[in-house]
Amino acid sequence: MSAETSFLTMTSEINNIKSRIEKLRKEINYHNYLYYILDSPKISDLEYDTLLRELKDLETRHPKLITLDSPTQRVGAKPSEKFNSVSHTIPMLSLDDSFSAGELIDFEKRIKKFLGINDEIEYVAEPKIDGLAVELVYENNILKIASTRGDGYVGEEITQNIRTIKSIPLKLMDINEKITIIEARGEIFIKKNDFILFNKEREEKGEPVFANPRNAAAGSVRQLDPSITAMRPLDCFIYGISAIEGFKINSQWEALELLKKLGLKTNPLIEKFTGIKDVIKFCNNIHEIRGKLDYEIDGVVIKVNSLDFQERLGAKARSPRWATAYKFEAPSVITKIKDILLSVGRMGTITPIAIMEPVRVGGVMVGRATLHNEDEVNRKDIRLGDWVEIRRAGDVIPEVVKPLVERRTGEEMPFKMPGACPVCDGKIEREVGEAHYKCVNPECFPKVLKSITHFASKNAMNIDGLGPKIVEQLINAGLIKDVSDIYSISMDDLLNLDRFAEKSAENLINAINTSKTTTLARFIYALGIPQVGEVTAWELAKRFNDIKVIILASKDDLVHIEGIGGEMALEIFNWFSVEKKQKLVERLLDAGLIFEAEKIDVSKLTLTGLNFILTGTLPNLSRDEAKERIKRLGGNVVSSISKNTDYCVVGDKPGSKLKKARELGVKVINEDEFIEITKNNF
Ligand code: NAD
Repeated sequence: MSAETSFLTMTSEINNIKSRIEKLRKEINYHNYLYYILDSPKISDLEYDTLLRELKDLETRHPKLITLDSPTQRVGAKPSEKFNSVSHTIPMLSLDDSFSAGELIDFEKRIKKFLGINDEIEYVAEPKIDGLAVELVYENNILKIASTRGDGYVGEEITQNIRTIKSIPLKLMDINEKITIIEARGEIFIKKNDFILFNKEREEKGEPVFANPRNAAAGSVRQLDPSITAMRPLDCFIYGISAIEGFKINSQWEALELLKKLGLKTNPLIEKFTGIKDVIKFCNNIHEIRGKLDYEIDGVVIKVNSLDFQERLGAKARSPRWATAYKFEAPSVITKIKDILLSVGRMGTITPIAIMEPVRVGGVMVGRATLHNEDEVNRKDIRLGDWVEIRRAGDVIPEVVKPLVERRTGEEMPFKMPGACPVCDGKIEREVGEAHYKCVNPECFPKVLKSITHFASKNAMNIDGLGPKIVEQLINAGLIKDVSDIYSISMDDLLNLDRFAEKSAENLINAINTSKTTTLARFIYALGIPQVGEVTAWELAKRFNDIKVIILASKDDLVHIEGIGGEMALEIFNWFSVEKKQKLVERLLDAGLIFEAEKIDVSKLTLTGLNFILTGTLPNLSRDEAKERIKRLGGNVVSSISKNTDYCVVGDKPGSKLKKARELGVKVINEDEFIEITKNNF
């Protein structure tokens, strides 16, 4: 590729990324408006989070494209003009998410690193109430202003509405402290049962129902007429103090204690811990009891307890560094189908498999899911390139639930079963009443399994760890159809299969890469050409020294090589004459194979100078195999016996050579003994 083309390619790639970023920003801002201003989202939180995550990822990879008005840098949405606006003394930010124990441990590591300390840190862990954030400003104990979060800096004034909520005191308890101003923050919510009753009433009155308690709470608080708010079953938990005058607090825990004393309602499940380990246990417990709580939560907020530390840690554009929201994983997630592969099972069953952008669901990364069969794909109308919702059925098997039809661009491709077996090109059939197509070639699966296992075997390409079981798994998964596919397997492909963990996947990928440096002889042997064993492969490599020359060799060229008879020459010639085989070799060479000169390990040539004669049929080894074992270790195979013969290897129904051997005093050995002295290298 010339420099000019590569520059053009890069420019067009950047332009594509820019336009994707712009499209995402527009889309996210639109949904922010629907969610925060109209309290009427059109997409699920799951879909919204997927869009935001894609934008975050693109911006992380291309930081130059980050703009200050990007939704990744901002909180919520501009306040509605229908309300008076209120500036927050301290911005009301969003929270960074954590999805696993590992991410909480990383959160702690980041904090310790930032603060430059090694001591255990105190945290306050609080259920994350799924409602609407509110700020309450009390002056001399009297509720003066209540506001929404708005865009984090400016919120909407909703004082009259908030005054209708019974759990929010209009006057704080007098605790004999000289508190002149207190700015408290909390979450307005509707209890689950109240929400059900409330929606039922609306339904009976023919009014539109709310999608969930969070939207109902937000819609109720952001009413222009406070008498409507007054009729809604709103409640509130207060979780923090953003500013206070006339009293000193040193920690989040002290803030909560004070809030309680002042008569504000705090959540009874909140706890204080030292070290992140106990926080993780708390998160797991809260996750377990989540369904039993009478209000909705979507995680646990973890805050560094010390206000001094909080101040030192500060905030990023959108979220403080001193807190994280441990979010319970959604039971389903959104991702995109990149490809649909076909796997062929041992019995010939052909199964379509969706290959997706890897996403975390139910605690594991998922990048592939079976689509079962053609009817199922058509029934769900799943297309290549679709955004889809996936979940882990029964918490184990990844399943594509449905495509997000509204996100189609027109470039998605409907799935079509091919006319032939994707592995052997053989005929495929679907019997009446059967859901699956099957490859009817009885040779298909076992043959492919055998040829790939042979290719990877120790004396061939020597790919450690690629034994029959793994090969079978890879064929079943649709990842390999022939040996050339081995070099396209990626870490992600393996991590999506059962039995593979990070380490084992890495080991196999390393073994595959290491096998690329080999010898020409090993490569020829690995191809599995009928009758071509290691010695013949070695002879071919020695004679031609280049695989491309071997491909072009005539029968005559071949027959002149030592140990290659007419029949074998024909097999080799025929094999390389097939276009498909030539293409296979080409693909393998394109994978970046490097052929090193044959290194002869003299210490392994234990039969150098020894002459062997074979007579009779050996129980296990073919004549060719036996000859190869001898030659590989430096020995000679002779056809007529003399006193220079060292060993006579005897099988079933030996000929006259045995009698002669005995007369000449040549050592006579059976197959077991022969295997013993030739086992060195095998
Ligand atoms: P967030 O999830 O980042 O969390 C911050 C909020 O948590 C705070 O503002 C506060 O209100 C709340 N909170 C609850 N309990 C708390 C506690 N104990 N301590 C501190 N804070 C507590 O909030 P965000 O930035 O408003 O939210 C994004 C959420 O809104 C996501 O879940 C997203 O899916 C959803 N959303 C959905 C759509 C849509 O179209 N479906 C659009 C926009 C946002």
